[in-house]
Amino acid sequence: MTAVDLGLPRVPGTRGQTGVPRPEHPGLLDSFGRVATDLRVSLTDRCNLRCTYCMPAEGLDWLPGEQVLTDDELVRLMRIAVEQLGITDIRLTGGEPLLRAGLEDIVGRVTALRPRPRVSMTTNGIGLAKRAAGLAAAGLDRINVSLDTIDRARFAELTRRDRLPHVLAGLAAARDAGLSPVKVNAVLMRGLNEDEAAPLLRFCLDEGYHLRFIEQMPLDAQHGWNRADMITAAEILEKLGAAFTLSPFPAARGGAPAERWLVDGGPGDVGVIASVTRPFCAACERTRLTADGAVRSCLFSNDETDLRTHLRAGARDEEVADAWRATMWGKLAGHEINEAGFAQPIRPMSAIGG
Ligand code: SAM
Ligand code: SF4
Repeated sequence: MTAVDLGLPRVPGTRGQTGVPRPEHPGLLDSFGRVATDLRVSLTDRCNLRCTYCMPAEGLDWLPGEQVLTDDELVRLMRIAVEQLGITDIRLTGGEPLLRAGLEDIVGRVTALRPRPRVSMTTNGIGLAKRAAGLAAAGLDRINVSLDTIDRARFAELTRRDRLPHVLAGLAAARDAGLSPVKVNAVLMRGLNEDEAAPLLRFCLDEGYHLRFIEQMPLDAQHGWNRADMITAAEILEKLGAAFTLSPFPAARGGAPAERWLVDGGPGDVGVIASVTRPFCAACERTRLTADGAVRSCLFSNDETDLRTHLRAGARDEEVADAWRATMWGKLAGHEINEAGFAQPIRPMSAIGG
């Protein structure tokens, strides 16, 4: 489903357009004419790393087990999304999705849905070495592994766990299992790993991984984000430009958040996701489901709809689909990080699903 022209003004930074009646539309249409086709599902809020830009050393108060969707509930919601709401892409994330018991079974059940969605996963890569082949056999199409440094001591400092070799082994196993293109997500932070832009890119080019840098966003549980410490997309490109020749990527960007460049004439490339300094909200195609069954229209939403209660009260598929549609109709024009009065969402990234 493509964007719909509702004849409404598109003013960046304005609130959702209240009072505008929703036209009949089967998909996840919002009041600005965008249609979400990409579902991000958090399988768990738990994690085995403690990345400093994500959560505190002691971890967080994890969701109580009874609040987390069961496998059947999760798969039912993904089925409704695919069959009734036009979702074509599903990304499994968390917290750390590899910690979800029964992950391979969930992947198998979701890839059996029709029309078959493309199914990918974002992971820290720990434990992936042993599971990549099984995940590929279950139907997983692609994988993104988060890696902010290739220096072991620094990895231990940034994630508070000495696990770099496990992540590197996981990446290699994903490549060997054909989960390609294997993408690497990296966040650069001032004074911590800002000197690793070029080394990370060299490593990824050598190994055949596709690197994406992501600007650090105000989504950490500790609320420690500080604009001055964020390494901007412009700075990242400047650092890369000192070591490589970057030229614009020939293919159109579409709704993809990453701006891509060919490196040294190609075929290798690099992407930069300028979530803060060059927001891509106007082209956003995403909807989100938390591990406890709440639907959110944006990472930065301050409200969400609890579908778990609907499910457990015996709601029919059509009723669940309608509640999901209504949530997305209220999606804001943009995340408002750059506006006065911006308030960080109550749930951190790890609990929403990054
Ligand atoms: N645990 C998995 C992982 O690390 O890949 C999946 C969840 S994690 C929240 C998803 C992605 O969000 C990771 O690539 C991570 O680097 C990124 N992330 C976490 N906190 C962030 C922040 N404050 N700003 C930007 N990206 C962040
Ligand atoms: Fe865990 Fe991912 Fe957050 Fe790191 S970024 S603490 S791996 S959820």
